[in-house]
Amino acid sequence: MNLAPYRKKSPWILHYNAGGCNGCDIEILACLSPKYDIERFGMINTGNPKQSDILLVTGPVTKRSRERLVEIYAQMPEPKVVISCGACASTGGVFRGMYNCEGGVDQFIPVDVYVCGCGTRPEQIIDGVVQALAILEKKTKGLEESVKLKKEAVKEGHQLNRRHIADEIKPVLT
Ligand code: SF4
Repeated sequence: MNLAPYRKKSPWILHYNAGGCNGCDIEILACLSPKYDIERFGMINTGNPKQSDILLVTGPVTKRSRERLVEIYAQMPEPKVVISCGACASTGGVFRGMYNCEGGVDQFIPVDVYVCGCGTRPEQIIDGVVQALAILEKKTKGLEESVKLKKEAVKEGHQLNRRHIADEIKPVLT
């Protein structure tokens, strides 16, 4: 079953503040307000990593949030996309160099989309989510292709050849 179009039309988003000033978080809340109303596009702000497609991180990673961030990311099912929202999440921003600041999100988990600004505007956040949806669709297709090849190999009684699967899904991912 081709899940890519469905996932793209109803992404579940998990928002995590790793240690920012709440400025970016307020802008995320603005995206949910009637003016922007991102829920009309099927985007749901969920609180459960196990049901999330997109992880939206604000603020710099701190010594206390580091482990939680990595754990949340690990709990999310594949395919998943990470958005770094704001200057702090991308580089540490104004908190960079402070005793408790560990730097940007990409120091600990892979980031797919960077949204700039301090704080980020709702339009920029929505634009970042749209970029994330394209990546999510691509990742979903790549995953489905690898599952399909795996099933075919098993059906035909062939031994799994990982190099062959990687060659087959490469055009889908690039
Ligand atoms: S980028 Fe600016 S608004 Fe956002 S968390 Fe950092 S300091 Fe606050």
